[in-house]
This record gives sequence, C-alpha cells and structure tokens, in this order.
Amino acid sequence: MNDFDMNDFDMKRYVQLDTGKCKACWKCQEVCPRQVIGKINIIIHKHALMKRKADCIGCLKCVEICPYGAFNVMTIEK
Ligand code: SF4
Ligand code: SF4
Repeated sequence: MNDFDMNDFDMKRYVQLDTGKCKACWKCQEVCPRQVIGKINIIIHKHALMKRKADCIGCLKCVEICPYGAFNVMTIEK
C-alpha cells in the first residue's frame, strides 16, 4: 500500500495505541514510515509506544500489521 497523507484533506487521521493489548512483537515499528512508534523494552515491561504522535500520517500500516488489534483509528477535523 502506498503512503496516504490525510493532511491533504479536511480531516486528519491518526492512530491511538492501547498498550494493554500490545505483545511487543515490534512489527508496527518496522512498518511505520515516519518512525512514530518506539519501544518500552525492559525485562518485565515491554510494549510499543507512540513516541512521535505528531508525525503520524494515518497510513494505517501499523493497524494492518498488528496481530493483536492494539491500534484504534481516530479522525479529527483539522
Ligand atoms: S498510521 Fe502510519 S504513520 Fe501513523 S503510526 Fe501507524 S504506521 Fe506510523
Ligand atoms: S504490532 Fe501490535 S503487538 Fe506488535 S509491537 Fe506493535 S502494537 Fe505491539
């Protein structure tokens, strides 16, 4: 899927991460084209983290690849 930039339209799409559902497979971090997603990766505490939320372009690659449905799609008016 090509990158799709919702910023060209009146609505901005972005994602929220439910860290409680995250199983720390890191697939979302690998596919994110904007390096939005980081890691909390210590021994008993591992999950993805939206470290640069403002850079999210709403491409939904993370949503599509997450095996555990940890992302929610959000839209707001610009
Ligand atoms: S929607 Fe796209 S840009 Fe935003 S966090 Fe997911 S993969 Fe990264
Ligand atoms: S793809 Fe899903 S389960 Fe894997 S690190 Fe990302 S949010 Fe967590």
